[in-house]
Amino acid sequence: MCVTHTVVIIASEINIMDKKKCYRCGKIKTIDKFSRNRTRPDGKNALCKTCSSEVERVRRKENPEKYKERDMAFRNKRPFYIWAQATLYKHKEKGFQIMISIKELEELALNTKKCPICGCKLTRSNGKGPKNNSPSLDRLDNGHTIAKDNIWIICHQCNKTKGGRTLDEFMEYCKNVGRLDVDRDAYKGSTDTPQTAMMGTTLTVEPHTL
Ligand SMILES: [Zn+2]
Ligand SMILES: [Zn+2]
Repeated sequence: MCVTHTVVIIASEINIMDKKKCYRCGKIKTIDKFSRNRTRPDGKNALCKTCSSEVERVRRKENPEKYKERDMAFRNKRPFYIWAQATLYKHKEKGFQIMISIKELEELALNTKKCPICGCKLTRSNGKGPKNNSPSLDRLDNGHTIAKDNIWIICHQCNKTKGGRTLDEFMEYCKNVGRLDVDRDAYKGSTDTPQTAMMGTTLTVEPHTL
C-alpha cells in the first residue's frame, strides 16, 4: 500500500467517526451535535440534538402530567444535578465561558460535604430556592470562565456575605471583622459609626469604645 493511499483511508475514517447522519432530519452533522447514549452501538443518539429537543417538546405538550411526574422524580433523586444545571445556565447567560459539565459540577458539590468557610453541612432542597446552607458556586479568580480549577463550592450564606469580593478581599474583610471589638452599649441610639479598617485603611477605633 502506497503512502498516499494510507493517508486517504485514515482521513476517510476520521470523517466517518466525526460525522453522523440524523435519523430524523437526515442531515449529516458533526458528532458533538448528537447527545450521548450508552445503549447505542456508537454511544450516540440516532437523532441530532435539535431533533431530540423537538421530539421532547412535542411529547411534553401531548402528555404534560407524565413529564411533570418524571421531572419531580428526577428532582428528588438528583437535587445537586438540578442545582448545577441552573447554576451553569445562569453563568452562561451572564457571558461566562463554561468549561465544566453539569455532571462534573454536580459531583464537585456532592463531594464538598461541608462549606469550606463556615463548616456547615451542605444540603439542597428541591425547587424552593436556596437555603443558607445550599451549595453555591464561587470563583477563585476574576476570569470569565467557569472551570474545575478556578471554582469551589461554598454555602449560599457565605457566598452572599462574600458578595463581589475576591477571595483576598474577603479574607481582608474577615480580618477587619475579627478586629472589630465594639462596645455596643456605647453606640445604642448613637449616630456615630465605629471606625474600623473596613475600607482597607488602618484600624482605628475610638478609645471610648474599647
Ligand atoms: Zn436531526
Ligand atoms: Zn459557609
